[in-house]
Amino acid sequence: MLTLRNIKVWNTDEVIDLVVPSAHAGLFAEDGAATDGDVDATGLTLAPGFADPHVHYRDPGQTYKESMVSGCAAAASGGYTNVLVMPNTVPAMDGEPVRAGEPGASEVLDAGYGTVIDYLQHYGEAHDVALPVRYDLCVCASKGRAGREATEFARWRRYMPGVDDETKDAAQLAHPVTAISDDGSAVTPATLDDVFALAKESGLPLIEHCEHHDAGAVNEGSVSRRLGVPGIPEDTELRVVERDIAKARETGVHVHFQHVSTAISFDAIRRAKAEGLPVTCETAPHYLALSDEALLEYGTLAKMNPPLRSEADREATVAAIADGTVDMLATDHAPHTLEEKERGFLEAPNGIIGLECAYGVAHRVLVDGGHISDARLIELMSVAPERLMGHEATDVAALVEAFSEPAPNEAHGGEPDGPGTGAESRNRLLDLSRVDDPDAVDLVVLATDAAWTVDPERFHSKARNTPFGGWDVTGRPLATIIGSGLAFSRLHA
Ligand SMILES: [Zn+2]
Ligand SMILES: [Zn+2]
Repeated sequence: MLTLRNIKVWNTDEVIDLVVPSAHAGLFAEDGAATDGDVDATGLTLAPGFADPHVHYRDPGQTYKESMVSGCAAAASGGYTNVLVMPNTVPAMDGEPVRAGEPGASEVLDAGYGTVIDYLQHYGEAHDVALPVRYDLCVCASKGRAGREATEFARWRRYMPGVDDETKDAAQLAHPVTAISDDGSAVTPATLDDVFALAKESGLPLIEHCEHHDAGAVNEGSVSRRLGVPGIPEDTELRVVERDIAKARETGVHVHFQHVSTAISFDAIRRAKAEGLPVTCETAPHYLALSDEALLEYGTLAKMNPPLRSEADREATVAAIADGTVDMLATDHAPHTLEEKERGFLEAPNGIIGLECAYGVAHRVLVDGGHISDARLIELMSVAPERLMGHEATDVAALVEAFSEPAPNEAHGGEPDGPGTGAESRNRLLDLSRVDDPDAVDLVVLATDAAWTVDPERFHSKARNTPFGGWDVTGRPLATIIGSGLAFSRLHA
């Protein structure tokens, strides 16, 4: 049992005492961190757990980069309690039966499962491991993510929440398919109509990698010319955004745009929202913190897709957060080995990892920069992405109202005598063992003002590909709580 004294509720500012009755089966803690007893949490904030609608865990098929185990550990240590796993696994997560002999097939077939989705839903059983975060799965838009033919609804309909639930085991119920995407590539013109029809029929959001280019490796501009690397024009993003806005208008399908990076795309999305169209979007911390100038300092650790854009686009991204055009933050956590990243601008794979420093980097840029409040950043990282996946973030204030015990001074008519600890506390007490549905309570404990330096060597991810190593940031997750159980701690008593 862990008791956090004097912790502040993120959106009411009420200071409470919180009892976390037990450990999650996947609990892990950093060296010397508290997992039970009393912790003085004065100055810390209790918020709904973060959710990341965009992670790549490379499992099955490329587990030398990341695995479900290391990816989920990275998420828990970054304050996340739920993630949406993108479908560019090997084989791809398209609902089709895995064929013996195709790359990555043995990991799925040897474990006794017929599809990648079956395998990932039962990952804990297959590997006898308890993963310390929740995860949903995102099914491919096209078969094999090849862009030639849309996936078949009949192959994956049963994985959706609410479909034949009475026949499902606990793992199937816990890890449903809640979105459609070909992330890594935009939906192709050849499959566009069929994919929108799939989204319409299923009712799931289409999560679009809204960017397509046939040539180029970094943003087109003075930096690409200086490096002598072929550039990617800014309208490679806008063309897909505009195309899909038109399809959203025509079909009513909810389109969620991933990792939006340019001023002109934000303008288009702003207009679509003003029109009342069902579109949402995310951006990632690197588009807030870095421009293409970062290529000069960090080399391929700043190579991603879409590419880091101009300083004006970076400023437009911050502005789109501040004015509400951006609905949520995602990391696009994309693990690669440093050997792969050392192949030069043309050959190195795109992407960086993000789960373990996203909050600190975003907090430094957005909250320290005076653009949004602490509470708004928490909404962008928890409430909004949970909603995209069809879930409701934990309502901490409602739990306090419904289930906390009155403060001792209220109960006994005593006079308040300033903040106390232990038996003298005059805070209301929320004991998570007493709530109606403890399994549904997912929380993060944040030190919103903590200054710390990003050290990739201490990441729980297998990967180290980040440009943020050595960055001084503020804001750090100290513990995650899943289903009322402590799943991760770097709290100190
Ligand atoms: Zn993408
Ligand atoms: Zn991605």
